[in-house]
Amino acid sequence: MTSTDNTTQNESFDICIVGAGMAGATIAAYLAPKGIKIALVDRDYTEKERIVGELLQPGAVETLKKMQLEHLLEGFDSQPIYGYALFQHDKKFTIAYNKSSDTQYHGTGLHNGRFLQSIRNDALKSKHITQFHGTVSGLIEDENKVITGIQYRDKQSRDIKSVSAKLTIMSDGFFSSFRKDLSNNKHTVTSFFIGLVLKDCLLPYPNHGHVFLSAPTPLICYPISSTETRLLIDFPGNKAPKKDEIKDHITNKVLPFIPDEFLDCVTTSIATNDFKVMPNHYMPAKPVLKEGAVLLGDALNMRHPITGGGLTAVFNDIRLLGDHLLDMPNFDDPALLHKKIAAYYSDRFHANTNVNIMANALYGVMSNDELKVAVFEYLAKGGDSSNGPISLLSGLNRHPGVLIKHFIYVALLCISHIFKGKGGGIAKSLGVVKDTFCIIWPLVYNELRFSSFFKKNTQH
Ligand SMILES: Cc1cc2nc3c(=O)[nH]c(=O)nc-3n(C[C@H](O)[C@H](O)[C@H](O)COP(=O)(O)OP(=O)(O)OC[C@H]3O[C@@H](n4cnc5c(N)ncnc54)[C@H](O)[C@@H]3O)c2cc1C
Repeated sequence: MTSTDNTTQNESFDICIVGAGMAGATIAAYLAPKGIKIALVDRDYTEKERIVGELLQPGAVETLKKMQLEHLLEGFDSQPIYGYALFQHDKKFTIAYNKSSDTQYHGTGLHNGRFLQSIRNDALKSKHITQFHGTVSGLIEDENKVITGIQYRDKQSRDIKSVSAKLTIMSDGFFSSFRKDLSNNKHTVTSFFIGLVLKDCLLPYPNHGHVFLSAPTPLICYPISSTETRLLIDFPGNKAPKKDEIKDHITNKVLPFIPDEFLDCVTTSIATNDFKVMPNHYMPAKPVLKEGAVLLGDALNMRHPITGGGLTAVFNDIRLLGDHLLDMPNFDDPALLHKKIAAYYSDRFHANTNVNIMANALYGVMSNDELKVAVFEYLAKGGDSSNGPISLLSGLNRHPGVLIKHFIYVALLCISHIFKGKGGGIAKSLGVVKDTFCIIWPLVYNELRFSSFFKKNTQH
């Protein structure tokens, strides 16, 4: 259904969702079949070629299943991912998501644009959703400062119109214009990803994510269809690379570190491809409770994409918020609605602690010359040294103690390497302790609550 009203939308909705992106479209697809009356607003419903959200960790896939939305992953050549392959100089090994045949977890590699259209089409099939096409320009507040809806500029008529709803979900993404009204969030740019598609490349380990650790900064790739592989090249710093910097980075800091069996394919693709560049943000969630509105998705919380954890967190949040809303008999009790929003903000903290810490901690470790050698060797040991970290990375293990334990073990292994090597023992070890502390402390401070140690640590 599309809005036809010329100026004001007289109809009131249970929920108005701002942004039909990954978060907004998915929560619409989850809630609409349950009879909740939803207004879905976006400025652009066309399919995009993006380099974001193309690897779903098993935690994200499992949450989709729990919400009975796993069919959204079908029909567009998405690929199962069974684990990771790690490369450092001439050494390589794989880590499987499943440590035995008792579990069948897998991730999914896909085209983000195709996946989003699949979610949107599914959501818009529901008679409970009204689609609005326009750019949201403001939130509407009543005299008690309760948010009662939004204003938007209609795409076709260019008129300013409004939508009224008992709850407004702000899921306007990465560059959110509205997070400042609903949070004290501050974001930093950690690095940039330069992305390109490799065509018809045979990966050294098919249906695996690949991490190359020999280069000065990490490189990752994974299949996104049966014939295409996404390559993401990290470019450190908070300034976007210029064209000649990209060329220089690839020539000197990428190509010399690509394994021989894969080099021809990468070289050909680099010569014939357009690069896309995206900033990688870190933004811990610091929501401010406001009646009538709630933040969801990248508008609320972001982490480095090296672990592909973004959609694990987004889908965790959708399930938590969705289930709190479904728990209400209707949307007519503002006090109960407010309580449910507060409960969602509190519950999501624990659900996403490991996903958020892991993403930025691993990026810090992989960008540190000593620690990245240690993490490679630690994971290569197998057993608990690889099963523990992969359970965290996949978004299936929420126990913060497991994350802290493995992080400390990697730092200790690194220090033992230094003492076994020649010279600089104590000074270099103190440097590693300092680096480790500088990586982990801000993350623990922002993301970890003591109560998390006593909560249920699996969701599936
Ligand atoms: C380089 C990179 C790679 C990533 N890779 C992965 C990965 O492999 N796996 C993973 O799980 N996560 C990954 N992520 C993270 C993941 O992509 C995001 O967490 C996810 O896309 C967030 O979804 P969202 O709905 O919040 O934002 P978006 O999907 O960006 O949606 C926002 C929507 O809001 C609309 N909008 C914005 N402003 C307005 C307005 N004023 N009016 C109307 N509409 C508006 C936009 O048109 C858009 O449709 C990656 C992130 C980056 C930066």
